[in-house]
Amino acid sequence: MGDVQSLYQKVILQHNKEPHHYGELAEPTVTVSEENPVCGDRVQLMLRINSSHIVEDIRFTGRGCAISIASASMMTDLVQSKSLPELQTLLQQMYDIFRHKLPPNLLSQFGDYTALQGVFRFPVRIKCVLLPWHALEKAIDLFQQNR
Ligand code: ZN
Repeated sequence: MGDVQSLYQKVILQHNKEPHHYGELAEPTVTVSEENPVCGDRVQLMLRINSSHIVEDIRFTGRGCAISIASASMMTDLVQSKSLPELQTLLQQMYDIFRHKLPPNLLSQFGDYTALQGVFRFPVRIKCVLLPWHALEKAIDLFQQNR
């Protein structure tokens, strides 16, 4: 168990050190910001969504704890190239898992998210994990209002 936990720790720290899709996106379709006042995490999310409603590209910037940055980095890997209906399903699954409506072992289906299952022992950190997902929800809402 110790080995698995240190492996998870490494995955989280690696995402925090070199986050995937970090930076500014040229010509984003939607840009949103979201904050977690509990630990001061901030994330800005930029998506380019094409006329077929597929996410062509995604970038984020932000500051915050390792958990929030790692979660944003892992999320961008999952969101890239997905359609909006797929994203809505994914979003609901993530909310359900982190709000204890679905079992945590389902995280193994979602790339590196399996490394974040340690946060279930620290409920306050679940807000850090969900921060980029709240930003994604905002981005989808904004896109749908404006089309
Ligand atoms: Zn945090």
